[in-house]
Amino acid sequence: MYEELGLYIDGEFIRGGGRREQDVLNPANDEVLGKLPHASKDDLDRALAAAQRAFESWRRTSPMERSAILRKVATLARERADAIGRNITLDQGKPLAEAVGEVSGCAEHADWHAEECRRIYGRVIPARVEGVRQLVVREPIGVCAAFTPWNFPFNQAIRKIVAALGAGCTIIVKGPEDAPSAVVALARLFHDAGLPAGCLNVVWGVPHEVSDYLIRSPIVRKISFTGSVPIGKQLAALAGSLMKRCTMELGGHSPVIVCEDGDIVRAAKMVASLKFRNAGQVCVAPSRVYVERPAYERFLETFVAAAEKLKVGDGLEAGTRMGPLAHQRRVGSMTEFVDDARERGAVAVTGGARIGERGNFFAPTVLTEVPDDAMIMTSEPFGPVVPIVRFDSLDEALARANRLPYGLASYAFTGSIRNAHAISTGLEAGMVNINHFGMALAETPFGGIKDSGYGSEGGTETFDGYLNTKFITQMA
Ligand code: NAD
Repeated sequence: MYEELGLYIDGEFIRGGGRREQDVLNPANDEVLGKLPHASKDDLDRALAAAQRAFESWRRTSPMERSAILRKVATLARERADAIGRNITLDQGKPLAEAVGEVSGCAEHADWHAEECRRIYGRVIPARVEGVRQLVVREPIGVCAAFTPWNFPFNQAIRKIVAALGAGCTIIVKGPEDAPSAVVALARLFHDAGLPAGCLNVVWGVPHEVSDYLIRSPIVRKISFTGSVPIGKQLAALAGSLMKRCTMELGGHSPVIVCEDGDIVRAAKMVASLKFRNAGQVCVAPSRVYVERPAYERFLETFVAAAEKLKVGDGLEAGTRMGPLAHQRRVGSMTEFVDDARERGAVAVTGGARIGERGNFFAPTVLTEVPDDAMIMTSEPFGPVVPIVRFDSLDEALARANRLPYGLASYAFTGSIRNAHAISTGLEAGMVNINHFGMALAETPFGGIKDSGYGSEGGTETFDGYLNTKFITQMA
């Protein structure tokens, strides 16, 4: 049974009522899974009013009360992970084990925020004048609006919700219409955990219409978006014109630097496994691989063997390691990347085309002899296509890694401390992984720089985007 889709406004699940609906498709076979109701203008107004009303009491709850609800959400998420994960595979396409892992792993975000929200401290600043007390307190910003994507539909939404609620804010979430079940399931988790009505609201619709309406509302004080750079810039520009705070978790084009003194075979296997996870639809997926010339052939051979071993298929079938792309748009986009590279002299040493006619399957693809001006070297692929090219000196590799406006994740493999130091200081990225992958944990900050956005989700930084700083100076 697929999730019963609906809006969630002021503590109520709503569907039908003559609202516009859109089909939700299974990307593995193009079949219709369900109908997703769009919010009317009245629905959005009700969600705004509910979030504002709820904020007045939620902001006054103690951190202990907020913490208890977030903990309950974590427990329920673990209990329901199998069912929620199955629906994610149905509407998003990723293999079942990855989908279930996304839900149970994300329970940790609820646990972490339950802990950290009890430690939103202020401070006392010694005064210059006797009898004066100077205090710094941190207060919740107010009603937030979040726009979350389809690639990790549970993860991307829960991180924003627990950060807002833990800080004492209330939130309206517009989830991904392409893969909506996880966000509806999240609303059920919070509802069943006893979150008061109005603190969390979930709406659906035409993305730019909903975001425009919510951002322009004077009720909304902060927005958070995960998605592409162009859309992020549009939303941030609108929010900026209204002086509203933003967290922007945008796309990347993550470079991988493989030095010849690293463990080449291990590096190739690790990069291949991360690259094709979720069919490459991951904002931190390694997407441009630079290998030092003497190690190039060995790296390429191991990587291609790993890519060719992947079983591509319906995520519900046992043994599937890579599912379909989440929607038809991505298949067209992959074809465009490959065609453009080939026109510029690149060679697809494996893959390079769509698989079959039904569903959105695309073969794991490795491109070689790719010039730096090819589209795949400059625009985020967000799919299972990767260029692997040579470099001759570390300075050259760093310059090529840093030449794009993106700055999200980056990776390097080396056996030398000197190289590791030069790489970690030289790479322009919000996150640097050396000789292993270790991002997106609840206790570590996740976020980009340059065009990849600003603000951190996770880590002790997690509440910074949801709090105002107030200075109080007082004389007895
Ligand atoms: P897109 O840019 O149209 O949409 C990306 C996401 O933003 C979707 O969930 C969409 O519903 C939402 N969105 C689009 N316009 C919006 C608006 N005006 N207001 C609010 N939300 C809006 O692209 P797409 O074809 O769905 O996805 C492909 C691109 O999206 C990729 O190239 C990648 O860069 C980016 N993406 C990034 C992430 C990430 O984790 N950073 C996740 C998903 C997609």
